Amino acid sequence: MSALLEVRDLTVSFDTEDGVVHAVDGISYSVEPGKSLGIVGESGSGKTVGTLTIMGLTRSPNTTIGGEALFEGENLLTLDEERMREIRGNEIAMIFQDPLSSLHPYVTIGDQMVEAIRVHRNVSKKAAEDRSAELLGMVGIPDPRQRLSGHPYELSGGMRQRVMIAMALANDPRLLIADEPTTALDVTVQAQILELVASLQRETGTALVIITHDLGVVAEVADEVAVMYAGRIVERAPVDELFARPEHPYTWGLLDSIPRLDRPVSEGLTPIPGRPPSLIAPPPGCAFNPRCEFAMDECLSVIPPLEPSPASAGHLVACHLEPRKRERRR
Ligand code: SF4
Repeated sequence: MSALLEVRDLTVSFDTEDGVVHAVDGISYSVEPGKSLGIVGESGSGKTVGTLTIMGLTRSPNTTIGGEALFEGENLLTLDEERMREIRGNEIAMIFQDPLSSLHPYVTIGDQMVEAIRVHRNVSKKAAEDRSAELLGMVGIPDPRQRLSGHPYELSGGMRQRVMIAMALANDPRLLIADEPTTALDVTVQAQILELVASLQRETGTALVIITHDLGVVAEVADEVAVMYAGRIVERAPVDELFARPEHPYTWGLLDSIPRLDRPVSEGLTPIPGRPPSLIAPPPGCAFNPRCEFAMDECLSVIPPLEPSPASAGHLVACHLEPRKRERRR
């Protein structure tokens, strides 16, 4: 199947008073129609900047962008603003982390949804209202027609996020980008929203890119996972493969730092020591080397390329450790 979105060697850097921030440093991935990719990493790993750039939302005189982001063959990075506006919210839609700041507080939910539909579709206000009520029903909001006349502050955080998802789906996008869609929600609501996103994605056939710091989230919804560190992808694999046979020390650290039901509580969690590096002056070689217990001389000077793992097809890893040592850790 050919890719719906193909990102090739994307680089994004920002010129700041303190120096050039290399936020994204040559990432490549693709997403096929109807499939989902989870992009995982700590704050500052470049996962959000990369997708905002693909949506044309980081363009400024201080930003330097390189590479390609082909959406159905069109390079999004070189399209003019008018064409990008046609694509955003129509062919590609985004769900942001905080629905309260994404929704207008003084405008009714119905008016916001109707506008989101009519900006891209030549339909009557009545037809857009009917579609809005239908979408609110789809995302599990009770009494959807009554809700159209309500304001965002009248809804709980989970319900507001459902409204954002409904708005994102309003124009049947081919690709949905969800940036930390559950981070602002409590744990039980998180689970409901993830289940909703996964089931809507299956029903509508929309491709999904989900950005998160939480490996538990990608386990729920992603077909494939890309782990990012310091602006680069350090490991990429189908989701089951990544959880069964992780090969990168950073991924091991992420997995060791999440609670597991199959481990005794007495074992506790193991945090990754240290902090993410400065993206203005990252360490030479592998950017993870100051935090990696396996670092060798080569790691201090040579950036490891992202290469296929000899152990599993479709599994890519960027690490100087010998494959048999990576396998031994599994
Ligand atoms: Fe650790 Fe070296 Fe692998 Fe980087 S390349 S993760 S420092 S072993």
